[in-house]
Amino acid sequence: MKKIILLFGFLSTVLIFSSFSSAPKQPKTVVIDFGHGGDDQGAQINDISENEILLALQEEIRKESRTMTTQIVFLRKKDKFMSLEKRVKKINDINPNLLLSLHLSLSENPNDNGITGFVSTDNPFYEESHKNAIRLTYNLSQKVLNDKGVKDADLYLLKNVKCPAVTLELGYLSNEKDRNYITSKVGQAELAKQICEMVR
Ligand SMILES: [Zn+2]
Repeated sequence: MKKIILLFGFLSTVLIFSSFSSAPKQPKTVVIDFGHGGDDQGAQINDISENEILLALQEEIRKESRTMTTQIVFLRKKDKFMSLEKRVKKINDINPNLLLSLHLSLSENPNDNGITGFVSTDNPFYEESHKNAIRLTYNLSQKVLNDKGVKDADLYLLKNVKCPAVTLELGYLSNEKDRNYITSKVGQAELAKQICEMVR
């Protein structure tokens, strides 16, 4: 009898440990992809480009994430263009708990404004991606930007990575209120703080 109990104890220990090994790796890793770079400046209006705002935001997130236990990995370290294929390969090599791809919107209608989240139904972690996207757009829209909600999108990056993935468009360059906020130091610092808070 004692032997059986011992064997049972041993087996349940093995089971507990094996279930731990399939759990998400610790510490948590989040990849942040800043869109465009180099010759690709993304959306542009007057003399402001999407790329330069994203670079400024990257700097704020870098400062904000210094004390976090969650590992934040920036996909591109320098202001260099990186193809979508290369981005996907790098993300899948890292195998993070979440991919966050950051962009800005541009519209012909200057009244269009707010934050939009995008997810792909082809992503293997669609449900988790969607939950994260709702949480992110909601929390990031608490200060100035409106919450435009979450949409399904056929985006190459989102459907080819093998991890939960969200693209966020953090306001419209073509809308005055959004533009004033996302080009300001205060706005960028607030967004960086919220993003770090959300992925911690
Ligand atoms: Zn973009």
